[in-house]
Formats: sequence, C-alpha cells, structure tokens
Amino acid sequence: MTRQDRIYDMLVLGGGPAGFTAAIYASRSRLSVLVIEQMLSGGQIATTDKMENYPGFPGGISGFEFGQLLEEQARNFGTEMVLATVEAVSLHGEIKEVKTSEGTFRGRTLLLTTGTRSRPLNVPGEKELKGKGVSYCVTCDGAFFTDRNVMVVGGGDSALEEALVLTKFAKKVYLVHRRQELRAIGLLQERARANPKIELILNAEVQKINGAERVESVTLYNQVQNKEWDLQVDGIFMYVGLVPNTEFLSGQLEQSEDGYIITNDEMKTSVTGVFAAGDIRVKKLRQVVTAVADGAIAAVGAARYFDEN
Ligand code: NAP
Repeated sequence: MTRQDRIYDMLVLGGGPAGFTAAIYASRSRLSVLVIEQMLSGGQIATTDKMENYPGFPGGISGFEFGQLLEEQARNFGTEMVLATVEAVSLHGEIKEVKTSEGTFRGRTLLLTTGTRSRPLNVPGEKELKGKGVSYCVTCDGAFFTDRNVMVVGGGDSALEEALVLTKFAKKVYLVHRRQELRAIGLLQERARANPKIELILNAEVQKINGAERVESVTLYNQVQNKEWDLQVDGIFMYVGLVPNTEFLSGQLEQSEDGYIITNDEMKTSVTGVFAAGDIRVKKLRQVVTAVADGAIAAVGAARYFDEN
C-alpha cells in the first residue's frame, strides 16, 4: 500500500521540535504517524548556530544536529516522514486530508506544527536585493560576509543572538533597533554590548536598502535626532519578528487576528480531531522547550481522541 492509499492515525504538518516530539510520543503509543516536512528537520531551530538554553546540554547543541536527532528518534519508534510542501487542507470530515506537492495524505487526526517564518521589514529595496545581500538567516548566509561590514535589524533575542554569530565572520556588525531599549534577554544584551565588533545603533529605523546589483548601503532615520543618513554595508540581516505559517488553513479553524492558532491547554483547536502545537499557536513563550511540551501534550490528546471516538 502506498502512503497515499493509507489512512494514518496522525498526520503531523511540520517537522520541528513540536512535530517530532508529538511523533515520538504518538509512535510509542502505537499510532501510525506521518510527518510532512517542507525542507529541513528541526524547522527554525535547524538554522540556529547553537542552542544554549535547552536543559540537559550544558555545552549547547547545534540547531541542525538537534533537528537531525529529533527525526532519528521519531523514526526509531516507527514514525514515517515525507518531504513535501503543504498546499491545502480539508479539516472538517472524519478523515482529514492534506494536499501537498507530493500528493494527498489522509489521517484520522491532524497536528499542525508548521511554526513561523521571518517577518519581512517591508522597506524599499528589500525584495529587489533579497539573496543579493538581504538575508533572513545568518547560519545560511553569514559566511558570505567574511571580513565585510553587515547590519542586523531588530532588538529581540534572534537579532542579538545572530549578530553575535555574525561577528565570527564579519569585520563589523551594526545592530539597528528602532527603540532605546533592547527587547532581548539580559545575557544576550551583555554579550552584544561587550563585543567589540558590534556597534549598537538605537532609535533608528531602516528607510531603504540601496544597491544596483548587490546591497551597497542602508538609509537610516533616527527619530530622536530627526537625522537621516546612509551607512555603507555589504549585507543586511532581518530579525524583526515572526509570522505564523498558517495561510494554507484558509480560515477553517479559529485563529487570532495575527494568524496564530487558538488551542486549549490540551492543544485542541476549534475543529474536532485537529490539534496544534509549538510556535504556530497562540501562546506566551515561543521556545523549543515549550514546543516539545506542546507536542507531547498534543500526542497524548490524539491518543485519547481514539479512545473517546
Ligand atoms: P521578537 O522577540 O518579536 O523581536 C522582534 C524585534 O524586532 C523587536 O525588537 C522589535 O522591536 C523589532 N521589530 C519588529 N517590527 C519591526 C519593524 N517594523 N521595524 C523595526 N524593528 C521591528 O522576535 P525574535 O527575536 O525573532 O524572537 C521570537 C521568539 O523567539 C521570542 O519569543 C524569542 O524569545 C524567541 N527566541 C529565543 C531565543 C533564545 O532563547 N535564545 C533565540 C531566538 C528567539 P520592539 O522591541 O520595538 O518591538
């Protein structure tokens, strides 16, 4: 029987920490599980140089390695996996259907763990110079800027963490934040302020990104001093927050105004048999450690669903 002919007990959309944890728990409960991942096991964390705050790894662990280990652990318990892009879902029947680039898959329960992606800054030049100096991923592109001047935009954990990684390659890293106070945790602020390669530019907004073939400079505006100026850089990395990957749901379940999925504390969504876990759902703390907890709870919920229905 091919995968398209089967009806799985649980389809998991997204192979990040939430998805694979759910897969591990569900497979161990002897549910049949198919994880549908678009690109890389681990999701967002796979593009993180080093994860330092996951308990049990005092020396930290590379995000890529963590993603590979999650996949291996799930497969060891019988989880199946397919690399495919989800195009549409049909959630309301007893059997949930997922149309993907690799065909349609069916499941009795469905777990949404497609997470988030980087939010674009939406300034002139960003789209035109994407891949030509405009980037959203230091792990992917940082090494291209060895001995160059680069800019990181944002004041949260991601911006500071990735600015610090960039200092391994770049000559100079300008960290541009729109307010006076950084949002990132204290430890990252201490490290960024102590790093001689990082120059903080506060109260500044990116107006436009300039360059013919590649990024040449960025126009900044300081609202406190009412000053506009151009800063020459070879690259600009955007870390101005995240948006949920929920477009394919086309309004079939309850979501917040900004697109995150609403669940209860058992990870149940507004649709029977459909669960959501990890960064994709409305929650206070988006971290790997909370994503894996969500995944475990969702899998237990799915197993219970079979007992009740
Ligand atoms: P975030 O916490 O939402 O921070 C986004 C930053 O971008 C904020 O400083 C925000 O400024 C700024 N920003 C937003 N829109 C902007 C705009 N239009 N122009 C200029 N600046 C703009 O996003 P994140 O840093 O990606 O983190 C996302 C989640 O992942 C957070 O929960 C974070 O704690 C977590 N995370 C954790 C770690 C870790 O634990 N090591 C690492 C990375 C991420 P304001 O501050 O003015 O709003």
